[in-house]
Amino acid sequence: MGRKIVVTGAAGFLGSHLVKELIDEGNLVVGIDNLLTGKSKNMIDMNSEKFTFIGMDICSPKLLSHPLLNGVDEIYHLASPASPRSYQAHPLKTVEVNTLGTKNMLELAMKSDAKIVFTSTSEAYGDPKITPQPETYRGNVNTWGPRACYDESKRLGEVYCYLYHALYDVKVKVARIFNTYSAGLANDDGRVISNFVTEALTGKDITVYGDGTQTRSFCYVTDTIHGLKLLMEKEDATGEIINIGNPAEITILNLAKKIKHLTQSSSRIVYQPLPVDDPTIRKPNLEKAKRLLNWEPTVSLDEGLKATIKAYKDKI
Ligand code: NAD
Ligand code: UDP
Repeated sequence: MGRKIVVTGAAGFLGSHLVKELIDEGNLVVGIDNLLTGKSKNMIDMNSEKFTFIGMDICSPKLLSHPLLNGVDEIYHLASPASPRSYQAHPLKTVEVNTLGTKNMLELAMKSDAKIVFTSTSEAYGDPKITPQPETYRGNVNTWGPRACYDESKRLGEVYCYLYHALYDVKVKVARIFNTYSAGLANDDGRVISNFVTEALTGKDITVYGDGTQTRSFCYVTDTIHGLKLLMEKEDATGEIINIGNPAEITILNLAKKIKHLTQSSSRIVYQPLPVDDPTIRKPNLEKAKRLLNWEPTVSLDEGLKATIKAYKDKI
């Protein structure tokens, strides 16, 4: 018999990938999503008696008495806009889902004695002053700017997780996820890999923001999902914050050049202004993930990009 698992954000990039794996493993999955940034077409393959869907905002207090949410074993709480384009289009909803929505899901976990994984973000480190970033680093974050709705609400979401664990012994685990990609990112999602690959494949200019010297460390979706599942499974991870990401760091300009090369594109690389508060560096320290989860990513950037480009070619 499988477990009964709730996935919030089930129609999104990571949520839809996770739901498919959980169903294939024989679990009963209840997806929750209000389609703010997710797409119902992401759930087409979930047409199975193992999957039920609640089309609601997770901030709604009514959700807790929903009959499908009785006897839950595990909750993966992924609901939240994640791309700068989408969280800046919905800043207040982003704050609400990560704070009130997270509180609601912690209440559900408490009521059901379920384990819960909250997907926080590397953005909790803001524009880091040390590299690579360990979980103990307290960050360099700005409350007064366009990224604050996301960064700071994820940090407050973590505070809710800490409190429900400390006060009520809820079995909470927090993942600080670093930039994750695959062709599962919608072409209009606005994140860098979906933008660059779409631009390169359609012959449009590849748009680097700023001078392209800022860095990111990109993790392929299968590695991130594996990390999240181990986080749920491992008892030693209860009450812990753990980085999930790939430590291979690259500048955004070199990423543009790599994608141009791999797609054999004739697109030009052009420069646009750097968004406000865009972090200059980002690279996870994975010692804690290795120690507590026995996890590290296995897909290199070249392999992941080749798979992504192939799948986008079929989509475009
Ligand atoms: P996504 O935007 O593709 O998916 C998020 C989903 O949440 C969408 O389907 C959206 O409709 C849903 N949602 C938003 N607000 C909701 C609400 N109030 N009620 C119900 N559903 C709601 O994003 P993603 O890339 O799949 O990210 C999933 C989670 O992982 C997010 O919490 C994000 O912050 C976190 N994360 C992702 C990355 C990444 O690189 N993908 C990095 C760091 C953290
Ligand atoms: N970026 C870019 N061109 C784009 C989209 C993004 O140069 O078309 C840059 C962006 O300024 C940032 C990095 O790529 O420095 C990663 O951006 P993304 O929006 O994917 O995620 P972030 O890590 O900023 O949340």
